[in-house]
Amino acid sequence: MTARRAMGRDCAVHVSHRHHVPIEIHHVWPKGSGGPDIPANRIPLCANAHGAIHDLLRQVVRANGLKNVPWPHRRLYGLAVVEYAARAWWAITERPEQLPADFTDPVSARLGRPHSQDDRNRRKQQWRDKRRANGGPA
Ligand SMILES: [Zn+2]
Ligand SMILES: [Zn+2]
Repeated sequence: MTARRAMGRDCAVHVSHRHHVPIEIHHVWPKGSGGPDIPANRIPLCANAHGAIHDLLRQVVRANGLKNVPWPHRRLYGLAVVEYAARAWWAITERPEQLPADFTDPVSARLGRPHSQDDRNRRKQQWRDKRRANGGPA
């Protein structure tokens, strides 16, 4: 579940944290369920997001599918967490020979564009502009 632990701000669920947090490597198709240890199957996550994905995935496995997890339970998790749990379930049940190119990137898939370093910088700049407009430090 956790391959290594380092401090960072890149989290696949929250896109970018404001401060450095402990980052864990998660295998979208869990290694314990046959998932390969390749870059296309690894994402960085903060501990909260990591715990949430495994939490929901346990419920999905127990219920034998995401749709069988009652909505009041599902709605407690953010869209990205639900998406990663759904991808894990898909991989566990389908056992694909090759992972789809966007397998580890449901956030950008949902937004309809890749979230690149440029996007991050733009978002950071927007955030700074907003803070400056509100009279905060630049
Ligand atoms: Zn994990
Ligand atoms: Zn996070």
